[in-house]
Amino acid sequence: MMHITTHYNRSIQIISQWDLRDPLSRGEYVRAYCHIHGSDHQRSLSVNRRTGWGHCFNAACEAVVLVAEWNPRLAQRLLFINGQQASVGLHSPVPTREHSPSIIQPILLLPSATPPQWQQEERQALLSLDEAMRKALVQSRRARAYLRERGIPLGVAQACGVGYLPPQLLQLLRQREQQALLYRWTDRLLFPLHSPDGQGYIGRSLWHWVPGMDEHWHKALLEQFGAPRRWIKTNPAGWFGYNFDQHPRTMILVEGAFDRLALLAAGMQPPSVVALAGTAVRPDWIPAHVTTILLALDGDAGGEQATERLIDQLEQVGLSVSTCSPPQDSWGTDWSERWRKMGRLSLRPLFEACSRLASAVTSKQKGA
Ligand SMILES: [Zn+2]
Repeated sequence: MMHITTHYNRSIQIISQWDLRDPLSRGEYVRAYCHIHGSDHQRSLSVNRRTGWGHCFNAACEAVVLVAEWNPRLAQRLLFINGQQASVGLHSPVPTREHSPSIIQPILLLPSATPPQWQQEERQALLSLDEAMRKALVQSRRARAYLRERGIPLGVAQACGVGYLPPQLLQLLRQREQQALLYRWTDRLLFPLHSPDGQGYIGRSLWHWVPGMDEHWHKALLEQFGAPRRWIKTNPAGWFGYNFDQHPRTMILVEGAFDRLALLAAGMQPPSVVALAGTAVRPDWIPAHVTTILLALDGDAGGEQATERLIDQLEQVGLSVSTCSPPQDSWGTDWSERWRKMGRLSLRPLFEACSRLASAVTSKQKGA
């Protein structure tokens, strides 16, 4: 067991699953006698098996724990931040009390949620078409026109691995089952997503889009009864632009794939910008060397709520968080729309936020 304190004075005990005393599974949670305050009356320690986070409900204890084996990346990250390079194979140095339950059961870990068979096959089929979809993007006049009208140079999209799936490409798949699975992905732009679980995709429908139609008009069309969904994702999915080894110390997080493309079109460096392809964050995916997150989510109600939530989650693991949302004006609530309408000027607040962060880091280094 190791005790660490985050930058925000949060006290966390990083423990091993073998520290848990007489654990019992209760759905997603494991309840155990708390070895931290030495309880043997109630299983007051409750740990979420999926995230590794746990909490002791005893009012005199209220320990916050992280089970290292259930969230090794986050455990490593927290140890790294605290300058403890120890490996995560932890042995409990806590003296065992005489009257503590003597049987320490190994926990039967549920395998991390395996997607249903059809989702695994869907992802595999898409991966097998990856190269063909990238080529199809270049060859499709319509897909190119769509990108152009959103202000995204073809070269920027290509460099990010964006593809397009015209229906004809399904003929490359040998099995009929695969063709059926990928039918819902046809006439979509595909963005590769990455996570520690591998590569997935998010697809944006171009159904009935014609040149001259802006994203609001097209969105309204896709919201009609019987229209395909605007965005669909594989399972597992991931983040667009995520590359564990290559991010700089400061990472910019945006919501949508097109927001990321807009930032790159304006000249930002690809490893600096990651699109969540939604508004959920997994703090354990953020590499340990990253110290600062610039949250640049949408300026609408959903984006504001998500920003509040994400600040909490990211600060909990010791990250320094800054925010920069699109200004409240009539130019659009996300970076992509603003970029299309205003060009470079639209991203000025973001560039300014980045240089403020960079100079803060420099003065910190000088002061150190
Ligand atoms: Zn306790």
